[in-house]
Amino acid sequence: MKYVSTRGQAPALEFEDVVLTGLASDGGLYVPQSIPEFSKEEIASWAGLSYQELALKIMSPFVAGSIPEADLKDLIDRSYATFRHDAIVPLVQTGHNEWIMELFQGPTLAFKDIALQFLGNLLDYVLKKRDQKVVIMGATSGDTGSAAIEGCRHCDNVDIFILHPYQRVSEVQRRQMTTVIENNVHNIAMKGNFDDCQNLVKTSFADQSFLPEGRQLAAVNSINWARIMAQIVYYFYCGLALGAPSRPVSFSVPTGNFGDIFAGYIAKRMGLPVDQLVIATNSNDILHRCISDNDHSKKALEHTLSPSMDIMVSSNFERMLFELHGRDGAKVAQLMEDFKSGEMTLGEAELAEARKLFSSYRLDDDAMVDVIRDVYEKTEYLLDPHTAIGVEAARKTRRSKDVPMICLATAHPAKFPEAVKKAGQTEDPALPHHMADLFEREEKYEVLDHDAEAVRSFVAGNCRA
Ligand SMILES: *Cc1c(COP(=O)(O)O)cnc(C)c1O
Repeated sequence: MKYVSTRGQAPALEFEDVVLTGLASDGGLYVPQSIPEFSKEEIASWAGLSYQELALKIMSPFVAGSIPEADLKDLIDRSYATFRHDAIVPLVQTGHNEWIMELFQGPTLAFKDIALQFLGNLLDYVLKKRDQKVVIMGATSGDTGSAAIEGCRHCDNVDIFILHPYQRVSEVQRRQMTTVIENNVHNIAMKGNFDDCQNLVKTSFADQSFLPEGRQLAAVNSINWARIMAQIVYYFYCGLALGAPSRPVSFSVPTGNFGDIFAGYIAKRMGLPVDQLVIATNSNDILHRCISDNDHSKKALEHTLSPSMDIMVSSNFERMLFELHGRDGAKVAQLMEDFKSGEMTLGEAELAEARKLFSSYRLDDDAMVDVIRDVYEKTEYLLDPHTAIGVEAARKTRRSKDVPMICLATAHPAKFPEAVKKAGQTEDPALPHHMADLFEREEKYEVLDHDAEAVRSFVAGNCRA
């Protein structure tokens, strides 16, 4: 399988090159040259497969020509061995034909583990094959950093440096990162805010001359196609569990960068009968405004109780624009050029198509807290704030009670005690057993000034030989 850029100007690449490349050279995002399709009979024959067996079926066509099947199987098996639950993404029922898909059974209690456990192993596999080493540099306000660290902690050919704003992430989130004591894992608490951290990482990508000879920076953010690919699997797995392909299923997705829900869209294109795909947003609602009012305009970022969805512009939406415009890269390039002014408008046909594919809904903090309280009172099931937004969006936009509605639970409530307490819980939600000693574990991190030179020399000086 070859991969092409959403802006049509960059060279097509093989899968392994796409994994190591961030953005395409024309500024676009890589997508597969064609989307594999499975027949209804073939999908039906997968009922009963384990998560790992199913992952092998779904991912194989995307890596064809790059990774032999036995190697892919080994990568998948190792990646999901770190999950606590045998089903990897268990379903819990919260209403008539309404289900929660728990995507937080991985090492850091957030759905990002599903993609990043796999991506870490995949990177190391590709790098070893090429006898190459990379440095990962990333900025985090919480979730992504810990999932990336857990994904890369055992990688021989990756050194990872994660910057977080000093004293501005929650203690659970800091400890999830800083208690990983490995000689290739480095946490930098930088005296500045999240934007300072992110800007420093960006400028480091632009000029990598500070790195040791032969090293380059790699990105693990959600523009990496391998992350999307790994996320397609759970749509099929839960769809099959609830009767697909002989009946359709719907999904509601707490959305930030549009990576997760784009994977759901690809699952549909591959043959999974999906009725509704619900885009659920918090007050940072650019996608909801786009679908409901054709208003895709930037607004100031709001800090909410669902911080992992506090995103001004969703980077993966560009992949959707590419599909909506019949894969016309020139058109997408033009739209993205227009968007530099702060807004873009979809054509009538594209808007109609987007509305056929997606429902959308927006919830602010107060409404979200009510949902956590209400669901807990009725079912004693505790939702995290991101998931609560998805559940309410599903209930508000649902077209048919006959179609199973699967709400994606993107984080464990213990990661977000503030929202949970606002919903009336008197104590912090308990961490799962395997993390119960998080507050006693040894921490390791470096406090540095907001000084690019100091950070870069720390990075360069701590890469393994
Ligand atoms: C990253 C994240 C999201 C948003 O996912 P996207 O793929 O960026 O849309 C939602 N909830 C949680 C808890 C997350 O960590």
